[in-house]
Amino acid sequence: MKSLGTPIALSGRMTAHHFTVDLEEYFQVSALESCVARSTWDSYTPRLLQQMKPLLEMLARHGAKATFFVLGWVAERQRELIRTIAAAGHEIASHGWDHVRVTHQTPAQFRDSIRRTKNLLEAITGQPVLGFRAPSFSIVAGREWALDLLIEEGYRYDSSLFPVRRPGGGYGYPNGSSDPHWLERPAGRLAEIPPTTLRWCGVRLPAAGGAYFRLLPYNLVRAAFRQCERRGVRGTFYIHPWELDAAQPRLNVSWVTRVRHYGGLRRTAPRLQRLLADFRFTAIRDTVDRFDATVAAQPV
Ligand SMILES: [Zn+2]
Repeated sequence: MKSLGTPIALSGRMTAHHFTVDLEEYFQVSALESCVARSTWDSYTPRLLQQMKPLLEMLARHGAKATFFVLGWVAERQRELIRTIAAAGHEIASHGWDHVRVTHQTPAQFRDSIRRTKNLLEAITGQPVLGFRAPSFSIVAGREWALDLLIEEGYRYDSSLFPVRRPGGGYGYPNGSSDPHWLERPAGRLAEIPPTTLRWCGVRLPAAGGAYFRLLPYNLVRAAFRQCERRGVRGTFYIHPWELDAAQPRLNVSWVTRVRHYGGLRRTAPRLQRLLADFRFTAIRDTVDRFDATVAAQPV
């Protein structure tokens, strides 16, 4: 790879961060796949509609725009929900078809998943799909071919390279840059928008989303975004609708997964209110549109 970290310089002051949502049902999470077979997904009662209502209201109340990485499987069954989200001014992007991690796919399977999902989402909303986030951030070292396939299939940015070292965790791209940057690939150029990490004592810690957002002190999350502002870059927050649903049915999983998955669910809504009050948020699309204006000024 020619460059793993050409920073994307944007003109003007960074006054907003990225708010992102991985749009999937509570039973489709990778951590639960040992007890929920894909073939049984249709037998579960969907809860996304009821989970999305408070989230969309909260975003609207704070004037925040978000990027929703949507599973093709969900879009096929909840077309109206996808149209509602897009009509509220949010960005619809791709989370692949059925939440198979890239580490479990062949290149041909990956291409089929990202093509099928993009086509469906564009047919539903009438708007181009620019971005992709791999299930469980599963583009890891050795799977960079996925980035080339994204470029070939017309995607303009990726948000899957989690710049942390997480041995055995199934994700993590420790050599990746922590801020938005350009990836120069054999297939072309792709913008990379990594989830935000907190720099602390020389290491990078995940702090800006998911279980980390629910289980760590809020001050660490806030510090991560403040650090982004000091560097003059936009941070990227991520959350799942099921994290706002303390009443979701509990599945029979190991105690470690129980803590990570079900811990702090009641904390999510009040913390989100606080986060949305502390910072301004926008969709990644807004940043990518600005990239185009700065491409000519970038070193190649
Ligand atoms: Zn996911």
